Amino acid sequence: MVIPKPLCRCRVCREARKKGVPYSRAGPSAFLHDINLLIDTPAEISSLLNRSHIRNIDYLTFTHLDPDHVEGLRVVEQIALDFRTWRAYPEKQICLLLPEGISERVRNIQSQYGSVIDFYLESGFIRLQPFQDEVRIKDVRLTAIPVDRGAQMSFVYVFEKSGRRVVYAPCDIKPFPEHRDEVQKSDLLIIQPGIFEDGLKHGFNYPPEHVSRTTLYTFEQTLDLATRIQAKRVLFVHLEEYWNRSYEDYYALESNNQMIRFAYDGMQLTV
Ligand SMILES: [Zn+2]
Ligand SMILES: [Zn+2]
Repeated sequence: MVIPKPLCRCRVCREARKKGVPYSRAGPSAFLHDINLLIDTPAEISSLLNRSHIRNIDYLTFTHLDPDHVEGLRVVEQIALDFRTWRAYPEKQICLLLPEGISERVRNIQSQYGSVIDFYLESGFIRLQPFQDEVRIKDVRLTAIPVDRGAQMSFVYVFEKSGRRVVYAPCDIKPFPEHRDEVQKSDLLIIQPGIFEDGLKHGFNYPPEHVSRTTLYTFEQTLDLATRIQAKRVLFVHLEEYWNRSYEDYYALESNNQMIRFAYDGMQLTV
């Protein structure tokens, strides 16, 4: 859910509507400048890119194919299509880098004309580079670790370069693959905070059997997980409107714990 949530008049949404970034928040996405890799395309991705300093996208990948991560996929057409000739600008073609498991499934994303990906491939907007388990792009090693979620398919990505390790796990990460060596002792763990059980609107309480508990850890469980896998720093992303917390509320949480930060739109980090 974006902040402000459309039409919502709650405290968090009213403030975000008035002040904008960093109080307002678009959907989940990240960009790795080392290899010009865009990760996930939420519905707001065109605006996010235009607000950023990003000049080129060479690669695109998805952590999973849920709507909040792929709704903005048409950005590749907006970037690569020359609408006067109906041809692609060859130099703007984007390589779709996908782990086995979603490299076929991605074809299920449809418009009224059929598979969107097939159309983008035929049009030359993208090319497909499927990989199994890991791939190296320049001096960056990317490892895709599947999360065991039955019929659903999602991935935790581990990026390694020059002895530094970043684990990217923004969504659908339960059960977290904490048995894997690649997720241990990261320099930075980027992860969703999970369920905040207190301070929710209308005094809402998550009952013990709530469906969200099957997909989300609690915030406390997520902090414990980060400790178990010995992450040196933790950055929380995918911050939801329904957590009822403003930029300043998250900022206050940070000041209690040197290890954690909460992301905001356009945040830039060096690891
Ligand atoms: Zn609201
Ligand atoms: Zn998500």
